[in-house]
Amino acid sequence: MFFIPAATRAEGTCTTNRNSPPASNWYWAPDAAVKVHFVRGMFTPEQQGTLLSAMAFWTQAAQKMGAGVKFVYAGETGGVINCTNCLTVTRRDVYQQDKKHYAFFHPLLQRADGQLLSAWIDLDFATTSTAALKGFMVHELGHGLGLWDCTTCRNKQTIMNGFPGINKNNGLLEASTCDLEVVRQVYERERSVLESSLAQLGRD
Ligand SMILES: [Zn+2]
Repeated sequence: MFFIPAATRAEGTCTTNRNSPPASNWYWAPDAAVKVHFVRGMFTPEQQGTLLSAMAFWTQAAQKMGAGVKFVYAGETGGVINCTNCLTVTRRDVYQQDKKHYAFFHPLLQRADGQLLSAWIDLDFATTSTAALKGFMVHELGHGLGLWDCTTCRNKQTIMNGFPGINKNNGLLEASTCDLEVVRQVYERERSVLESSLAQLGRD
């Protein structure tokens, strides 16, 4: 069992679509070690450091919230790769092709219930500043931890807010307390589903 200290719980103060993002059906398996590849030539060493800091943020936060998902850097790759618990990070002209988005999280393979088996993240070529890259990467990684976009949340309440520009952040560089609370709930639910299906197997 996972013990979550009361101080990290924020359920009473988080209201979906006001200061808390809706939950989505995309999530890495509880305790998954997600192997993260960067596509060769897409990120400078400094930018790679920024991506790694976003991964480290979520690894620590996921641990604290009982999700246990870890993002582990697995080296450079020539393109998007499809393997179990693999995430590729690359760039393309996202905004040129879709004037409503600056970045994307794409599930590549998932189970029927939504659990992610592999995915990739597209960042725009124009997202180059450290502050923007950090914000976008934390946001996109959040999509793989059960968080959906919050278009009606007030400013700076969630990393899942929209972004005001292609090379700007949305006012946050890390997930908010309410973001973490949603992650906690998604994984608490997922673990109880896993436990009850195991118990079911035991009975049959
Ligand atoms: Zn998003």
